[in-house]
Amino acid sequence: MAKKQFKAESKRLLDLMINSIYTHKEIFLRELISNASDAIDKLLYLSLTDSGTGLSRSDFYIRIEPDREKRVLKLSDNGIGMNKEDLESNLGVIARSGSLQFKSDMEQAKEQEDIDIIGQFGVGFYSAFMVSDKITVISRKYGDEEGWKWQSSGADGYTIVPCEKETQGTEIIMEIKPDTDGEDYSRFLNENSLAALVKKYSDYIRYPVQMEMEHS
Ligand code: ADP
Ligand code: MG
Repeated sequence: MAKKQFKAESKRLLDLMINSIYTHKEIFLRELISNASDAIDKLLYLSLTDSGTGLSRSDFYIRIEPDREKRVLKLSDNGIGMNKEDLESNLGVIARSGSLQFKSDMEQAKEQEDIDIIGQFGVGFYSAFMVSDKITVISRKYGDEEGWKWQSSGADGYTIVPCEKETQGTEIIMEIKPDTDGEDYSRFLNENSLAALVKKYSDYIRYPVQMEMEHS
């Protein structure tokens, strides 16, 4: 299956994220949780306007599942989800004003300042590439029968294929980088570290952020 290329704008931001020496890589979790929360907002809004959804506030969740053996971190939500076109236009292109502003500021900033601005912006989905070698997004849009799988290892583009998914919503599956160059990526596979990050950055989120804690 042919790989699709990211749009030039997106590719530059992506390269920046992949090669980032930014020290607060942990902010990717804040970005993904905020996306999950937005997706739930959208479906909840639909539920309020369209009585047919039968969903209420308490049905929604955001879930974090680390797998230390496989070095995979999964973040899922049962929000509105994305169809093929949504995946194309949302994850293949930077359309957001925030990211465009970020990009233009980056181009003007000097090397050192570069590093400081990352955390101030909502850098969005691509920030997950700061900690992942490969990202798979499995999503099913509310009201659709089929799901879609978006996959990318970063700079060399992405693929989208149909796939099965039981319920509406989105799963972000991150293959976490090996611990190299003195960077401890394994902390993103550790329940306690993840819980601390959720507390630090995502405490204001209005939906439950769930994670099974390993009993010891
Ligand atoms: P922003 O959140 O500022 O729009 P992002 O890069 O974080 O930018 O995300 C880009 C877009 O991808 C979002 O606007 C949304 O449409 C889509 N998206 C990302 N994550 C999800 C998700 N979990 N569920 C549904 N849509 C999502
Ligand atoms: Mg976002």
